[in-house]
Amino acid sequence: MKKNILIRTNFLVCLIIIIGFLMTAFLSYQMNYTASLDNIEQVSSLTSEGIYYQLTTLFTKPVNISLTMANDSLLRSTLSQELENLENPDYIDTLREYLNSYRLKYNYDSVFLVSTATHRYYNFEGLDRTLEPGNPENDWYYDSLSLSQDYWINVDNDEVAGADNKITVFINCNIYEDNGALLGTVGVGLQIDSLQALIQEYENQYHVEAYLVDQDGLIEIASHYTGYEKVNFFSLFDYPEEIRQSLLYWNKGEAADSFWTTQGDKSSSEDYLITRYIPELNWHLVVRQDTGKLMTELQQEMLRSAIIILLIIVFILIVITHVIRTFNRQIVALTQSMEQEKRSIFKKATEELFDDIYELDITRNRPANEATIQYFMSLGAQANTPYDEALKIVAEKQIKEEFRQGYIDTFKPENVIRAYEAGQDTLKYEFMMSTGGAYFWMRITARILRQKSDGSLHMLTYRQNIDAEKRQENRLQELAQLDEMTGLLTKTATRRHIEHLLKEKPDQLYAFFILDIDTFKQANDLYGHAFGDSVIERFAAVLRTQFREQDMIGRIGGDEFAVFIPVPDLAWVKTRAQQLLKALHYTHTAMGNSWGVSASIGIALTSREAKDFETLYQKADDALYMSKKNGRNNYTLKP
Ligand code: GH3
Ligand code: MG
Repeated sequence: MKKNILIRTNFLVCLIIIIGFLMTAFLSYQMNYTASLDNIEQVSSLTSEGIYYQLTTLFTKPVNISLTMANDSLLRSTLSQELENLENPDYIDTLREYLNSYRLKYNYDSVFLVSTATHRYYNFEGLDRTLEPGNPENDWYYDSLSLSQDYWINVDNDEVAGADNKITVFINCNIYEDNGALLGTVGVGLQIDSLQALIQEYENQYHVEAYLVDQDGLIEIASHYTGYEKVNFFSLFDYPEEIRQSLLYWNKGEAADSFWTTQGDKSSSEDYLITRYIPELNWHLVVRQDTGKLMTELQQEMLRSAIIILLIIVFILIVITHVIRTFNRQIVALTQSMEQEKRSIFKKATEELFDDIYELDITRNRPANEATIQYFMSLGAQANTPYDEALKIVAEKQIKEEFRQGYIDTFKPENVIRAYEAGQDTLKYEFMMSTGGAYFWMRITARILRQKSDGSLHMLTYRQNIDAEKRQENRLQELAQLDEMTGLLTKTATRRHIEHLLKEKPDQLYAFFILDIDTFKQANDLYGHAFGDSVIERFAAVLRTQFREQDMIGRIGGDEFAVFIPVPDLAWVKTRAQQLLKALHYTHTAMGNSWGVSASIGIALTSREAKDFETLYQKADDALYMSKKNGRNNYTLKP
């Protein structure tokens, strides 16, 4: 039962902690989630704006410089003289110096010029190569010839000697003659790694991904991709078609556009996309953040708190178990000591009237307090032995055989319930029992009462040692025993009465008479046993007439009688003895026969030496013997 309380308490505490934890976790998850989504939108938007302004700043200048070069009349006139100076080193050097001066001034990775007439590629180091048509490496140039805009941008590897084929963003501007004919292409190149570093920095700082994609969705610049690799943004992310549409075609304004969307196969997490068109580059800047990462982070945080809570629960459970156990031990000890105290007080109060008080739960058929359990266990029952079983054990172990069945029948639960229902609230049973030694008398008084708290029927039993009382009662019964034939006291009763009187008044002078019918055998022998009986009956009746009602007369043998009376003195006794001899000398007639009756008397008086029955009897018997010896029908007195 104590264990149950422990388990229940622990379970309750766990439940409260778990419910509390779940509620807190759920609320904080909700709040974090909403806050994180807001955060994502803000961070993505700021990142997008940051990258956008950096890029436009970064590209505005080289575009302007390229345009300046393309419109430089000096360059135009120099270029128009190219055909005459194909082999002129000075001419080539002039172009080299021109291009190099721009490169040095603005610190670009490349400054170049392509002649439409000769397809020669000049740069800051002079004549680099001739762009032969048909070579795929030169497609960028031949493709651009059909373009009509002032400048365009392409991302490619730089094939110029010494550029190590580094991926470079080229800004190309067409040079036109006054008549509109194409003279060449001039421009600058920026190595892409510095741009990638810029994007990477944003990505690291704000946990987003940024991509610069062209009109077809090809990634031109990203932290891990370049236009040279020709990777399509939409092949990396499986976004719905409408996202692609709005991202590439519909949003060509200045303002940013944002979307919450999911990828086709990963519908559990949402992605936030901000897109912005950069007119200078004719590219789209796409900043992307996926909530999958956020979810993972939140889930990890939940897991961490769950582990912490689990540890706390384990700790609390250990503490509670320990506290409750200690508490229980103390309570049990306290209850036991209180019960002990109560019992001893009760015992004192009743002045040991009751040996033990036990309580039983009749409804549940079990002992109802610790003392009762202990008592049953002391007789070999188990702690959980039902009451009716324990009752049998008690009967078997302690109760004298002839009382066992009566004891069980009185106190068995069925009988207790039946008695209570019949309106009887007290049961009593007297019996003899032993606790190892001699048998003694015991009385059990049981009170049956209904518990108000739970309606169960309880029985309180009070055990009372009534041995002394019973023995006294038996003595009195014995004292009251009368001889059937004469109505006088029996021999035992006579003895008890005399002992009682001697004890009661030890200083009183008593005379103890023994009277014996002379030659009684003869009456039997002559006239039969029945006649003998009638002699005895008559003799007793005559004897009674000689004494007062309260005087003690008994029949102590077949034809032997005793009288024990207080006497004033010796002389009085002698007179009484004479009177008795006279009265008891008569002729008995019965059944047609007559027989002369006489008696012999032996008398003993109490004295300091003769104060007990044995001595008195012995003295009187000796005196009687003397009387018989002296010829019968006389008395002998032993003072
Ligand atoms: P004494 O004078 O010495 O007393 O001689 P006695 O014959 O009386 O001898 P005693 O007292 O020893 O004998 C008593 C006889 O009484 C013995 C027994 O057979 C007889 N008796 C004892 N009880 C009864 C009885 O209840 N009825 C009858 N009819 N006879 C009894
Ligand atoms: Mg006799």
